[in-house]
Amino acid sequence: MKEQIEKVAEWIKTAKRVVVFAGAGLSTESGIPDFRSPGGVWDRYNPEDFYFQNFLASETSREKYWQMATEMYEPMKKARPNPAHIAIGEMERLGKLDCVITQNIDGLHFKAGNSEEKVIELHGTARYVTCLNCGKRYDREEIQERLKKGVKVPDCDDCRGPLKPATISFGQSMPERETQEAYHRSSLCDLFIVIGSSLVVQPAASMPLVAKKNGAKLVIINRDPTPYDHLADIVIHGLAGPTMARIVEEVHSVRSGGSKEISG
Ligand code: NAD
Repeated sequence: MKEQIEKVAEWIKTAKRVVVFAGAGLSTESGIPDFRSPGGVWDRYNPEDFYFQNFLASETSREKYWQMATEMYEPMKKARPNPAHIAIGEMERLGKLDCVITQNIDGLHFKAGNSEEKVIELHGTARYVTCLNCGKRYDREEIQERLKKGVKVPDCDDCRGPLKPATISFGQSMPERETQEAYHRSSLCDLFIVIGSSLVVQPAASMPLVAKKNGAKLVIINRDPTPYDHLADIVIHGLAGPTMARIVEEVHSVRSGGSKEISG
């Protein structure tokens, strides 16, 4: 593990464009459950209740959706960035981050100091709510206040259209600009680091392949095996927080001349 960490640090140091690809596993150490681990979201909810078509179909489904979304939002709001988020924030400060392509909707990258222009939120964000009819955007807190006051299904002040958290549900179109930008950055980078993703949710999971096909080195840091481990140049089966903290510490020491030459 030590040797792999040193090698990843060396690659970060020498790479021209480093893309970090983040999944729900990046935020579990901040107390936000992922989808697929035991105790994760799919242990407690039926994925079908999150389908976009169901949200559109009936007022009853929308009510259920907002109940679940509220339950998931409260811990997200209180969550603090963990050492992995902080390490990615540090990579930006060191000038070693092209962008973070994140599947996460929790906004923790921003709390860790990453700037808006460095973060591509591929699956939207829980920080805002949008009207599905006219596109008007609301601050999430404002809408949660309405729910606390007894509103079951919030609607738009302007057009009375249905309001939904600005996250991408199953069956909902991916955001065009973010998706294109993420593919573009993946194809241009020379180092692509996956952190905390099962790499099974498409089209996001195809981005490491795009990077690899275009000549980037691929690093996967995930607690459990992923379907693309065999394609990666380095796989670290470990926890995101301690692993990323050690990598960035090593980048510092390599930068200040404290580390040895690493081959490969
Ligand atoms: P996933 O649930 O499919 O997979 C998470 C992966 O992270 C698993 O393979 C697990 O082994 C690994 N993992 C868990 N804790 C870890 C840790 N501490 N360190 C390293 N690895 C760890 O998540 P996914 O691949 O991101 O895809 C599922 C969808 O989940 C995405 O669309 C995303 O939008 C959504 N999601 C986001 C959040 C969030 O915003 N925090 C939370 C739940 C789900």
